[in-house]
Amino acid sequence: MNSNLRDLYQEVIIDHSRRPRNFGRLEQANHRAEGYNPLCGDKLTIYLKVDNGVICDAGFEGEGCAISTASASLMTETLKGKTEAEAYALFAGFHALVTGEAAPAATALGKLEMLGGVREFPARVKCATLAWHTLSAALHDQSGTVSTEDNL
Ligand code: ZN
Repeated sequence: MNSNLRDLYQEVIIDHSRRPRNFGRLEQANHRAEGYNPLCGDKLTIYLKVDNGVICDAGFEGEGCAISTASASLMTETLKGKTEAEAYALFAGFHALVTGEAAPAATALGKLEMLGGVREFPARVKCATLAWHTLSAALHDQSGTVSTEDNL
């Protein structure tokens, strides 16, 4: 990655962590889940409004580091209008990206690629994936808090 691109990615992450999009409780949500990353202390609640298998709206609240906040912000922005199947495909592609596995070519990640740099910082990978694990729990209507340290 050249340094200009790296700077751009950095700027997007800082922008989303300082001014997170879709931040706040989503009153009309019909799915929600809480996520916790004990390694960093990140806590998130993800809210989804799903109609006929399509994610019509998404929001989140909580407290976390810049990476976890930016990831949740970019994720909620990306999810709107996606089907549940598309959301799982994005999670798989994003997980492959940040863990350094080859990303499936079939899934265009768009802005989510801005977080690809965390693969160089293994301790931050769970910060980046917390929102997605919590999303998965919300779609599955799991109760309780999903932790990045449970079976992940
Ligand atoms: Zn974190």
